[in-house]
Amino acid sequence: MTNVGFIGLGIMGSPMAAHLATAGHEVRGYDVNAGAVERLVAAGGHGASGVTDAVAGAEVVITMLPNHPHVEQVVFGSGGVLETAKPGTLLIDMSTIRPETSLEIAQAARDKEIRVLDAPVSGGEAGAKQAALSIMVGGEADDFAAARPFFEVVGKTIVHVGPHGAGQVVKAANQLLVGGIYGLVGEAIVLMEASGVDAGVGLDVLAGGLAANRILDLKRESMVAREFQPGFRIDLHHKDMGIALAAARQAEVALPLTGLVAQLVAAGRAMGYGSLDHSALLKVTEQLSGRA
Ligand code: NAD
Repeated sequence: MTNVGFIGLGIMGSPMAAHLATAGHEVRGYDVNAGAVERLVAAGGHGASGVTDAVAGAEVVITMLPNHPHVEQVVFGSGGVLETAKPGTLLIDMSTIRPETSLEIAQAARDKEIRVLDAPVSGGEAGAKQAALSIMVGGEADDFAAARPFFEVVGKTIVHVGPHGAGQVVKAANQLLVGGIYGLVGEAIVLMEASGVDAGVGLDVLAGGLAANRILDLKRESMVAREFQPGFRIDLHHKDMGIALAAARQAEVALPLTGLVAQLVAAGRAMGYGSLDHSALLKVTEQLSGRA
């Protein structure tokens, strides 16, 4: 069994760290929110007083933080992972962040003989709780092989997608698809309702045809009922659309639909829906048609 330092015990990190503790690993968790640390202790882990404490003695360090500034602070900051981890430590960043930061971490870690993977996830809170996440991993093949037993504790679909940063690029592709599909399901609902057609009945038919997709399967009823409890917040999707557009710029490609979806998500935030589930893109489309 392995000593694991786990930093970031929020909606996703909390159940993931608990699964690792249940699997028999010695998990030392840290979060700036003391209540989150207490939850890990109640789930069989150990509480750490800071990043340095979580990393001390760890063979594997996992970060699950909101965005790249948080990851940079924890990894590069004073008393952070790169300063305190012993050579040979495997640092697995499972946050969704911009690929450049993953590359910067990999570069800086090389000098310290710390091994690094970017390993963002898909599957949401339910996937984290059920240990059924999809994990897209960037980095060296040997490090992926070493990390695989830990991924298997929290995930079901685990794929090495390429070198450092590739995991984040695949995650950006996931987020532009998810945002686009939500936007179009919202438009389908607005069209049907404005035409006097029962949108719930209409979407039931569509979910059996060529337009079938998991968002229709999982979310059509809650969208038609206007239930927008998160889930995954518009605020976080706004961050992810920014990552997708920045990655497109870096790759020197034009993604026009992604640009449009990013603007719809930004509009949702500006309209005050940032803390609602991303399916609330429907409200943006309704508002554009004067139907809110
Ligand atoms: P969250 O905000 O619930 O959790 C992040 C945690 O990090 C918080 O508990 C916060 O207190 C902690 N934190 C912030 N700065 C810290 C620091 N310097 N040191 C220690 N702890 C710190 O977010 P989440 O929903 O768990 O998401 C985490 C990451 O996973 C994000 O990048 C998100 O985009 C991604 N993600 C989320 C979902 C989802 O459905 N929620 C799904 C897939 C991927």
